[in-house]
Amino acid sequence: MDSESSDNTVWVLGNRRAGRARAGRLAPALERLLESGGFRAKFFWPSTREEMRALAAEAARCGHRKLVVVGGDGTLLDAINGIHGSGIELGIIPAGDANDVAAALGLPRDPLVAARLLFDWHTRPVDLVRAKCADAEARLYAGVGGAGLDAEAARLAGGRFRFLPGRARYLAGALQAFSGRRAFEVTLDFGGQIYRGPADMIALANAASYGGGIQIAPGARMDDGWLDVVVVEALSWPKVLWALPALCWSGGMGGLHPLRFSARQLKIQASPGVAFHGDGEPFGHAPIEIELLPGALRVVCAAVAAP
Ligand SMILES: [Mg+2]
Repeated sequence: MDSESSDNTVWVLGNRRAGRARAGRLAPALERLLESGGFRAKFFWPSTREEMRALAAEAARCGHRKLVVVGGDGTLLDAINGIHGSGIELGIIPAGDANDVAAALGLPRDPLVAARLLFDWHTRPVDLVRAKCADAEARLYAGVGGAGLDAEAARLAGGRFRFLPGRARYLAGALQAFSGRRAFEVTLDFGGQIYRGPADMIALANAASYGGGIQIAPGARMDDGWLDVVVVEALSWPKVLWALPALCWSGGMGGLHPLRFSARQLKIQASPGVAFHGDGEPFGHAPIEIELLPGALRVVCAAVAAP
């Protein structure tokens, strides 16, 4: 076992660009805080996503039992794909624009307050989602994945609307995607039970929200062993404009009246051009096989006092 894998040594993998460079600015304060909590923190600021994932895998290979990530949902996505299967536990310091997974875990919004939870290192198991697209290797995500309109919205949010803050970025992406969309015919196979119909988008939610607080599945929990499946059927401009104020102000989806299912496994058949994203990152295209992995990751969270 690596000599650095003793209990108080922890690798901290940060994405300097997360939260419009907020994560990078946090570095000195984080170093001081972790030191005051008795950690020997070793910071890494990889410049690419591949490097982030490789470093996470390296931490697991070196025998570390704890890893800390600093960034948003995209940073977390790379880390969980790097460490999967190793049993390494993850501390999350939310410093991105959206931080929907951190919100679902009930972590404090202030990164330095969230970092204090690392001192006690109280963890709990959460579910992850494995998605295998037709044209790509299987990957994991922690929060929300989706096909159709929201995959295109995520692509635009990470591209031409990247300059906008949080939820506005995703809503701008969604409106742009909606104006150029075409509804598709989808078949959802829930282990033999079939749903078939038109859809503008399908979201597969492990966490309640995505895109900086859009409440796609308000009842979703990350530790209940179920995936919340949300199907938004063919939309119209009047319907979208009616729903827009709630989407902007509270992130509520109620005005769109989506269909809702629960699943542990499902297969999505759609036309080959329909894209899929996991936590906002492109995963590939349909058909897609989805599997929920119950309790696949232990994450640091606030300890709940015994009743
Ligand atoms: Mg769940």
